[in-house]
This record gives sequence, C-alpha cells and structure tokens, in this order.
Amino acid sequence: MAALPRASKIVCVGRNYLEHARELGNEMPERPLLFLKPPSALVHSGDPIVLPPESQQVEHEGEIAVVIGGTARHVRESEAMGYVAGFAPLNDVTARDLQKTDGQWTRAKGFDSFCPLGDLVPPDEVNPSQLEVICRVNGEVRQRGAASQMAWGIPALIAYISGIMTLEAGDVIATGTPAGVGPLRPGDSVEVEIPGVGLLRNPVKSA
Ligand code: MG
Repeated sequence: MAALPRASKIVCVGRNYLEHARELGNEMPERPLLFLKPPSALVHSGDPIVLPPESQQVEHEGEIAVVIGGTARHVRESEAMGYVAGFAPLNDVTARDLQKTDGQWTRAKGFDSFCPLGDLVPPDEVNPSQLEVICRVNGEVRQRGAASQMAWGIPALIAYISGIMTLEAGDVIATGTPAGVGPLRPGDSVEVEIPGVGLLRNPVKSA
C-alpha cells in the first residue's frame, strides 16, 4: 500500500457505546455526535502522552480508528468500506475536567500528544464487524469493547460523515470509546490493542 498523506482532520464520534454514555451520565444522541481533533495531536506508539498543567483529570479512551484511503463525499453505506485504507488502535486522550467546564470540546481533546495512533492494517486482513478494542493501564484491563456494540457501525459512520464533509486520504475516524474510561497519571503506560490488528503503547508524563 502506498504511503498515505498526513490526516487533514481527525473526526471523532462521541457516545457510540451505550455503556460509556451511561457511565458519564449522558443520554445516547439521536444521531452520531461528532467532534474534531487537530492533526497536531497525533503521536506514534512509544511517544509520550504529555499531561498539560491546565488539567487535573486526563483520561484514556481506547478506540478503533478507521483511516480513509481516498476522497469520499456522499458515500453510500453499502460502498463505504471501499474508502477504507485500514484500521488502527487510537487513544482519544481527553482532559475530562476541561471537557465539562468548556462545553466545547476543542481544548479538552486537542492538546499536543492527545491522539496516539497505531500502525495501519488493511481492511482485507480483518473482518471489520468483528473488531474488538482493549485498553490497559499498567497492564490492567480498563476498557473492552467490540465494533458489534457500536450504536453506529463503521459503514454508517463513513456515510454520515461524508455527507457533511469531504473525507480525504489519510483522514482518521475515531469510532468512539467503550465504557471504562479513567485517569492517566505520570509514569503510567497505556495500551490500546485491537486483537489481530495491532497494539499502541504510550508512556504518560507531566509537561
Ligand atoms: Mg472518544
């Protein structure tokens, strides 16, 4: 597979798993709840997640990421998987306290290093409907979810998002996090694994 360009945007889905919406006291939205993370937040496996001094409550959100392979606009759900370059583990790192106080999520979700993204596995090597995601902190399982539990599945998300904005090659969709989000502290090691796809591991440090 040819190298993809860097993401022009990271489109994230909030509250796509019922149990996660409940754990934060939220109702499920009527349609996918979208927000953006800036590409400047991207880091690789092994890079540190840097805790900003502005937040006292930075949390992990292990997610299944979809990376787009070509320009997609008004894509039908039935054709959506043809626009996928691959899948990768992603950590939608979130300053939970700032998410609550700001209302808008840009600051809480947008600090540098708040979007670790693992290596891409092409779609023909996995069954997208059977993908699972596991998040561990210091080796202890904190989150476990499956694509089958998503309120909106991957093809529906691609169709919905591409009806709003043009998706470009390299763009990333973070498909939402299952229940079990929790704090990250300096010295922690946080992993997001998609069995059969890959493992993302990042140390956590203070700014
Ligand atoms: Mg998330």
